[in-house]
Amino acid sequence: MQLLRLELKGFKSFADKTIVKFSPGMTAVIGPNGSGKSNITDAMKWVLGESNVRNLRGQKAEDIIFSGTEKRKPMSAAEVTLVFDNSDQQLDLDMAEVAITRRIYRTGESEFLINKRSCRLKDIHLLLADTGLGRDSMAIIGQNRIDAILNSKPEERRLIFEDVAGISRFKINKEDALRRIASTDRNMERVRDVMATIE
Ligand code: ATP
Repeated sequence: MQLLRLELKGFKSFADKTIVKFSPGMTAVIGPNGSGKSNITDAMKWVLGESNVRNLRGQKAEDIIFSGTEKRKPMSAAEVTLVFDNSDQQLDLDMAEVAITRRIYRTGESEFLINKRSCRLKDIHLLLADTGLGRDSMAIIGQNRIDAILNSKPEERRLIFEDVAGISRFKINKEDALRRIASTDRNMERVRDVMATIE
């Protein structure tokens, strides 16, 4: 599954719409310190569903929206789109290209889209589960991540192996099923109470 391009607008230092194209082979992003190289990988993590802003080197959600400069006003929203070549159908969608978009407004609202159709964060997680691009995937390894992996507790390291081994999708589905079973149990309990009152 080839990454085709990353589109950013209003994300951190990328106020203007910026498109980073990825050709087959290796792509290197070079630039002086503080020029925004890590912001590009932050944008990728964010659009792929990262929900902890600290993992994007921020303190609060709005830290990822362009905060303005001396000459330029802050922006009211940030938007990132990541486009994949899906001709090999590795993503479970019958589309040759898949574009995942995430938007956040300074008011706090946010939205996710798959090929411009609104969806839930969970749909993104399910779409990416077992592709190696899911939450906490090894596809993006930040500057401190290697040390963190080496120093992680066995339980934390197990989650990493589970993701790489491709069982995350089943865990998400299992959690969903357990929630529904618990809800059905509660409903059954109520039905039994009502029946006991009638009898
Ligand atoms: P280094 O080589 O030192 O690791 P880098 O090229 O990876 O640097 P980044 O860390 O990606 O640079 O970018 C840091 C820059 O992004 C800083 O100039 C910072 O002011 C800017 N920046 C971060 N968040 C925002 C924001 N919300 N609005 C505007 N600019 C931001």
